[in-house]
This record gives sequence, C-alpha cells and structure tokens, in this order.
Amino acid sequence: MSVKELAILGSTGSIGTQTLDICRRYPERFHPYAISGNNNVDLLIEQAREFQPEIVCVANESHYDRLREGIGDLPVKVFAGKNALNDMVTAPHVDVVVAAMVGYAGLEPTISAIKSNKTIALANKETLVVAGELITRLVEEHQVAFLPIDSEHSAIFQCLRGEKTSEVDKLLLTASGGPFLHMTMEQLNAVSVDDALRHPNWNMGAKITIDSATMMNKGFEIIEAKWLFGIPVDRIEVVVHPQSIIHSAVAFKDGSVKAQLGVPDMRIPIQYALTYPERMESPCGAPDLFAISALTFERADTKKFRCLELAKQAIWQGGSAPCVLNAANEVANFAFRNKEINFQGIPYVIERALNEIELSLPTELEHYVEVHNRATKLAQDIVRNYVASR
Ligand code: MG
Repeated sequence: MSVKELAILGSTGSIGTQTLDICRRYPERFHPYAISGNNNVDLLIEQAREFQPEIVCVANESHYDRLREGIGDLPVKVFAGKNALNDMVTAPHVDVVVAAMVGYAGLEPTISAIKSNKTIALANKETLVVAGELITRLVEEHQVAFLPIDSEHSAIFQCLRGEKTSEVDKLLLTASGGPFLHMTMEQLNAVSVDDALRHPNWNMGAKITIDSATMMNKGFEIIEAKWLFGIPVDRIEVVVHPQSIIHSAVAFKDGSVKAQLGVPDMRIPIQYALTYPERMESPCGAPDLFAISALTFERADTKKFRCLELAKQAIWQGGSAPCVLNAANEVANFAFRNKEINFQGIPYVIERALNEIELSLPTELEHYVEVHNRATKLAQDIVRNYVASR
C-alpha cells in the first residue's frame, strides 16, 4: 500500500498536532509532505525535525529567518507568507490537504487545493461558512473528495453511508452546550475569558473554545452541514447533549434514527477522514456505556445563546451575510479574548455588523475577500465604540 502524502495547513494547532499523531502511529500509511504554522515557530521546527517533510511553511513572514535558522541543516524547502500556502497545497506530490487553519485564513489555500484536484479533509468550518456556495461549486466542478473532520459532520457523514439524501427527514446536530449551558443571563454577563476557555468535554484551540461557549460554533456547524450534505437549514436541528458521546444523528423518513457514538477525541474523526472508506485501529477505544449510564438531551436556548440565532438568520439571508457573520465573529471573539468586550458583547457586535452592512451576492473569491475586509473593519469600529461607551 502506498503512503498518502499530506499537506497539513495549521500543523501546530490542535487538529494539526493530532493529525501528526496519526502520522506517527501509521508512518507506513501517512506522511506529512508539507506542514505549515502561523506563529508557533518552535513547534514547527520540532515537527520538521521529527517528520522530515519536504516543505515547511510559516504564514507569518516575520518568522521566516528564525524558521530557516532552526532547520537550516535539514534537506527541506522553507516557505513564508500567505501566498506560499497556495504553493504548498498545490505541490504535485500532495494527495490530501488537511485544512486545519483557524478562521477565514483557511479559505484561499483550501480553494487552491480544490482547484488542483486534491482530496480535502476539512476541519476549517469557516471556509464553508464564508463561501459555502463557491466551495460547493468548485468541489463539484473538480470532482474532488471533500471529507469532514468536524466530529458532528463526520458522524452525519458516517450515518449517511449507503443512504439516499432524498430519504433523510432531518439532521440532528448535537451540541455539548459548552461551559455555560445552565447559566442565567446575568451570570453570562459576568463570565471571564478563563471561564470560557474551560470546555467540559473537548480539548480544542482558543478561538473555537470561545465559539463553543457562545454556541456560534454550533451556528457555524448548521451552515457547514447545509453545504456538506445539501440539507436545508430548517431540517437541521440542534440537540443539546452535554455528555458529547453521540456526535450527531440522522433521522430518516421511516422514523429510523442512525447515530454515531464515540469518546470525545478528535483523533477518531481525523483518522476516519484520512482512512475513509476504511477504518483502522485508533488509540481511543469505544465509549464505556456502562460507565456513562445516562445520555441526556435538551433544546438549545437561543435567547440566551443569541449567536445560534444570528447564524440561522445569516444563512436565511444568504448572499454575503454568512461571510459578514464570520468576519464579525472573528473580531468579537478576539476582542473578548483580549478583554475589550464582555461575553454578551460578542453577539451584540455581530448583530450590529449584520444590520449595518449592505449585503451583496458574492460569486468569486475576490468578492468574498472584499466583503470579509469590509465586515472586519465595520466590526472593529463597533468594538471601538462599544469600548468607548463603557
Ligand atoms: Mg464540532
């Protein structure tokens, strides 16, 4: 069996390091041909030494010299800058591109990868939130395999194997509810960054952990599911399931429901995207149902978790609205982590950006770039005014 050559966008992040864990476990199956990071140069150097990729890329150009110095003795090509990410994913030897960057930054290299007919393993949900229409069209045009890494979408993908989309009644997208599930509005106003960064079940990067606390992550996942599976948003239901054992389910016309269960460990969905349609042993093991004993479900409170409602609203509006939603969320999420706004300031900033911006109908990458830049600037202004008024 031949080795699959991977290009890992964001190899120093949570999904990236776990992908490398799988390469470490199955060196005869997966090799990181190219890896990229943004700021964590020390880890990038360490990874280059361990895995001996052909290409190492740092998106933040100011780190180029330090990276060069750190691996100057290795026979490896060193790239820097955002444009270099496009060269890295389109390299002829690359079979699979693992899109594991955070946020909007993942959009362009993912598009480059699709256009050069690479298989995509997608962790970067923002790509589909920002430009779902364009991505879906390109995937169709280039007939590339587009495999979800997000645990909920991997679950739905597994439940849909061998089934017809026309026989689906609805998708049941599970949500842990994050660390603030049962707090009152007043309590939510007072939560700190550290509180929000403490997720009860999943170990993830900072940006997505905050998105989970606001439930914007779940809003994004509704949009992601719509584009991945071609199911309209009104047939995607969020089910709060605090134990994070059922990773999502599909209800069919005849009343049958198929669910995928597993321990909350991202290495399972990452590995499935890489080995699909095969399954291989993982370090996780199956959940111990006797130890768990009870699985519970409840409705999401969209009044308390306003971001969920804003995401739905944006996808209904369509056009550039989801791109604006994402840009404003990136600004608000960052401002909260930077202690400029409080927790409830996040939906406030996003809602105002969505209301104030003039929406358009982007079709090409440059349109999305323009919308993203305009929405980012607007959201930053809203944050500044918010800070000044307090
Ligand atoms: Mg998820």
